[in-house]
Amino acid sequence: MDDASATDDTVLDFDPDALREKYQRERDKRVRAEGNSQYVEVEGRFRHFVDDHYVAPGFTREPLTDEVDLVIIGGGFGGLLMGARAREAGIQNIRVIEAGGDFGGTWYWNRYPGAQCDIESYCYLPLVEELGYVPKEKYSYAPEIYEHSRRIANHYNLYDNACFQTNVTELRWDEAAARWIVSTDRNDAMRARFVVMATGPLNRPKLPAIPGIEEFEGHTFHTSRWDYDYTGGNHAGGLTKLADKRVAIIGTGATAIQSVPHVGASAKHLYVFQRTPSSVDLRGNKPTDPDWAASLTPGWQRARRENFNNMVIGLPVEQDLVNDGWTDIFRMLSRAAKARRGQAMTKREAALMIKIADFQKMNGIRKRVDETVTDPEAAEALKPWYRQFCKRPTFNDDYLPTFNRPNVKLIDTSESKGVERITSNALVANGVEYEVDCIIFATGFEVGTAWTRRAGYDLIGVGGKTLSDYWSDGMKTYHGFSTHGFPNCFILGQSQNGGSVNLTSVLDDQAQHVSYIIKQVMDRGLRYSQPTKEAETEWVAEINRLSVVAFRFLSSCTPGSYNNEGHFGEPGSGGLGAGAYAPGINAFNALMAKWREAGDLEGLELG
Ligand code: NDP
Repeated sequence: MDDASATDDTVLDFDPDALREKYQRERDKRVRAEGNSQYVEVEGRFRHFVDDHYVAPGFTREPLTDEVDLVIIGGGFGGLLMGARAREAGIQNIRVIEAGGDFGGTWYWNRYPGAQCDIESYCYLPLVEELGYVPKEKYSYAPEIYEHSRRIANHYNLYDNACFQTNVTELRWDEAAARWIVSTDRNDAMRARFVVMATGPLNRPKLPAIPGIEEFEGHTFHTSRWDYDYTGGNHAGGLTKLADKRVAIIGTGATAIQSVPHVGASAKHLYVFQRTPSSVDLRGNKPTDPDWAASLTPGWQRARRENFNNMVIGLPVEQDLVNDGWTDIFRMLSRAAKARRGQAMTKREAALMIKIADFQKMNGIRKRVDETVTDPEAAEALKPWYRQFCKRPTFNDDYLPTFNRPNVKLIDTSESKGVERITSNALVANGVEYEVDCIIFATGFEVGTAWTRRAGYDLIGVGGKTLSDYWSDGMKTYHGFSTHGFPNCFILGQSQNGGSVNLTSVLDDQAQHVSYIIKQVMDRGLRYSQPTKEAETEWVAEINRLSVVAFRFLSSCTPGSYNNEGHFGEPGSGGLGAGAYAPGINAFNALMAKWREAGDLEGLELG
């Protein structure tokens, strides 16, 4: 049965079948056979793309061979939350190891003009209640978030003992001593009883392997290492040094949406090379209302996060507390459900209702393009033809109007699946050469590649087994936190556990759970814990069993980081959407709370 005939009680002003076919055609024309290998690793001659401009050169220190209870790898929100929750649980001897020159992670590196959180700050900024801090606006800009990272580190004394500008190169389990030996690029060989890896899902910038990329003689940089020396200005724009420059931005994901308006306002010429348009919804930022802030009662942030987490997977809530573009589609759904006056629905009818709400939402997004962009050709190219959550939806009030500027031109590269070629002074698309002085790569971060490649180090666990080998056919964990053969070692992030578009809420809950396990091992006088092989196998099977619907959804999506560039489900493949616990973060937390309450650390082998 097709979509149209299944909705005979709904009067639609569009043809859902035609739309579905259009989505399919637009997807198919973008899938590239090479998948993730269409990108080059930022190594060798591309290594300078990840240089740290924010620190003074020449930092040195003596190698460390001491021992701590807990090493946390990564000083972004994952590492900060782990440090904070571990301290609260009574674990004191902690060391954070961080590649950058300070805490902040994503917000240390991403200082591009316009950078802003896209989840509302009251949900996104962690530990605001604990620190008595209220974000200044509904959506905070990067400097405020970076400052908040430093505030957390100070509050929980995480600067003590931290190692910055340090990259872990290997973790090796010393079985006799039941300690991890942590090697780094500063010749450290520290020892740790426990290790938590919080290296983040988007830590390694990626570059497209466009033919000729190494031949370009002009200036280049990646958005996560914005070069203000070259552009002038700061996070708020005013990129005055671009006034006489012809600039190309490659990519139109969430980062480009925020930075393009500033480059468009300052550059002599801006060419935006687009392969797939983003869905660009209303932002509507506003300052925090002090009366509202004063009215908040203890526990408000957790309640708000849970409300948002339920809302964005379509679970019923009494009130939509966040009430923004993320939750809009679910408000539409809730209205549609009410219109059915409580009549029971089959699974198929429910799925169809969701699909129709999605089509309507995206029709609104496309209408917004028509209403804003004056050049009909550019407007047509800026319309996204996929379901809203196939890619990270974006929210910005200045991006679309930028294409009405006479100095800004959109170059649609969808037919050639991206920019065709780069020469010493130009980019080639659709057979036309565009001469530029500078190329800005807004091309995102590695997602679907091997976990150990993105982390930058391998683990050598029990019996000399490496994590890269053990996971070569896919990630295997127990509850997403730990892996058989790698005792006392934990992972934070979106792996086989409850996920949410609001990653900091996920990290906070994970940090509390991992702190609990570590404390139990310490208090019970144990040497280690690790998942049993059986518990791990069962958990992976459960994740796979529950993810059938998400799998089907993502497989039909336009290629991108959520679905491993359109090659979702191939052996060993990743993707941001891969392997989450499908019932969602709140359900996962309830499961973990029950597990902790039982108190027997079920599924863990205790040494
Ligand atoms: P993305 O991976 O989302 O975007 C990369 C862009 O580069 C895409 O538009 C991609 O096109 C394009 N691209 C890649 N290769 C080529 C090529 N050969 N030719 C032309 N275009 C190409 O990266 P972002 O940095 O924008 O965002 C990464 C993630 O960071 C987001 O998903 C989000 O999770 C997070 N983020 C969050 C923000 C926040 O506010 N909290 C802000 C910014 C980012 P295609 O789509 O066709 O692959």
